Amino acid sequence: MTAPSPSDGSSTTHRCTTQRCVVVVAAGSGQRLGRGIPKALAEIDGRTILEHSLEAIRASGVCGATGRIVVTVPRDDHRLSELARQAGAQPVVGGATRAESVRRALEVLGQGPEPTGVLIHDAARCLTPASAFQRVAEALDQHSAVIPVVPVVDTMRSVDDTGRLQGTVDRTRLRAIQTPQGFRWPLLREVSAAALAAGLDDVSITDDASLVERFTSLAIAMVPGDEEAFKVTRPLDLLLAEAVLAHRGRSRS
Ligand code: C5P
Repeated sequence: MTAPSPSDGSSTTHRCTTQRCVVVVAAGSGQRLGRGIPKALAEIDGRTILEHSLEAIRASGVCGATGRIVVTVPRDDHRLSELARQAGAQPVVGGATRAESVRRALEVLGQGPEPTGVLIHDAARCLTPASAFQRVAEALDQHSAVIPVVPVVDTMRSVDDTGRLQGTVDRTRLRAIQTPQGFRWPLLREVSAAALAAGLDDVSITDDASLVERFTSLAIAMVPGDEEAFKVTRPLDLLLAEAVLAHRGRSRS
């Protein structure tokens, strides 16, 4: 039997009773990982990055037993779509940039019953603990936009256009921003439409909260992120992820 192709955004999605949905962006090429396969298909401890991400989302319970999870996948992918369906999620063809992938997922969500809130998560942050999803979801009950943050440990310096060193940035005033990021649905829909109208689908949009800041004056709430929610980007990150999983396995036994 041939698996149905991922939605191109034009079909109606499943119905469900929960009001919180999750978008998992997994349409990246994985060029920096250097495996020659989409990053979300790379395996850690015998399971793909996408499977690890979806498992944590289910374990967190943030979208309930029948909640909707939409996963963006590369255009010519079949395997990730199949893995998404097996986990009860809906695959959607992603775009050329992360921002475009998110927008496509939101278009699909908008065709179903309206959620009250949406969590947007990078599949590449595949070891994000369930508790990190729960913190964002709980804060979303009080705030319109929520981001998880962690302190920065390196000394940070900026450079000018020619690459020459500028001053050291006071790292106590810096935060690294993670996912999942949580948004009330009307706000997310509004800033997504504004970004589309402004032609903002480019690679400079690396997260979704930045759109809220760009198009509204709303304050974004912060919750503690988690060191284990690091983004698998380079080969070393895969080694680190293997080590984290091995450590979790030892802690359980
Ligand atoms: O490239 P980067 O690692 O910053 O991507 C962050 C997340 O966005 C990844 O999980 C990746 O799969 C996803 N992405 C996407 N569509 C793109 C580019 C990235 O869904 N066109």
